[in-house]
Amino acid sequence: MKTWIEQEIAAAVAEAQAREGAITRWRAPLVAYASADDPLFPQLKQIVRATHLTPEELLPGARSVIAWFLPFERDVPRSNRPHRHASEPWAAAYVETNALVGVVSRRLADGLRARGFDAAVQPATANFDKEMLMSDWSHKHVAYIAGLGQFGLHQMLITAAGSAGRLGTLVTTAPLDATPRSAQPACLYTLDRSCTECVDNCPVAALTLEGSYDRHACYALCLENAAVHPQHDLAEVCGKCVSVVPCTYIDPVARKLARPAPRV
Ligand code: SF4
Ligand code: SF4
Repeated sequence: MKTWIEQEIAAAVAEAQAREGAITRWRAPLVAYASADDPLFPQLKQIVRATHLTPEELLPGARSVIAWFLPFERDVPRSNRPHRHASEPWAAAYVETNALVGVVSRRLADGLRARGFDAAVQPATANFDKEMLMSDWSHKHVAYIAGLGQFGLHQMLITAAGSAGRLGTLVTTAPLDATPRSAQPACLYTLDRSCTECVDNCPVAALTLEGSYDRHACYALCLENAAVHPQHDLAEVCGKCVSVVPCTYIDPVARKLARPAPRV
């Protein structure tokens, strides 16, 4: 079953970038799995918000959660590094990848149903409370539970393929073995305070070294960017905190710890 799931996601990515008019290119997708019974799911009602759903609340009889990460090609974050506003390729990648997350969700759900299982999907974005700027299904928290990555100082997930990309998740009644979560941090600030680039890069000081995140300041800049890129529908995005920083393309802690110690 996992082989089919991973092939289906890879095929959807390949088809999306072969489509006429497509702007964005993606690196190889990552996929991870959680048990619907993972005790962290009910804790999201305290960590995210009281109305955050459990897999069982989203889909009665849920057994598993599938999480995937679609990392952008390196040119996309490179283009987004300078200037206050999001670059054109970054805005396009955000909108196209959100659409691709929808395609992946539908393909997986259809395939699971054809195999006798049920599935529940959530959109990649635009499913949040516009006042609180919070969702009842946080893809990044769900993907963390599935072992897809670790949270960084920028409040985003750092996967083995970095942070520059988009996440999708799906709940299913199919039984799938859970991916183990790593106990090792993926953020250099968490490891040894050797990086603060995401905080330094934020144009509106929405991030702090204490780990706070001003989601309203962040969203205000995302709305500015949507106005800068009206040719893309709902390009409410910024991404300066994940553009050409140590965790843009990789897990920098895994790389640092794998490097041989210098001779003294
Ligand atoms: S830019 Fe540096 S401090 Fe920020 S999340 Fe990435 S590794 Fe951590
Ligand atoms: S997305 Fe932009 S505004 Fe929001 S925290 Fe990151 S750099 Fe700051």
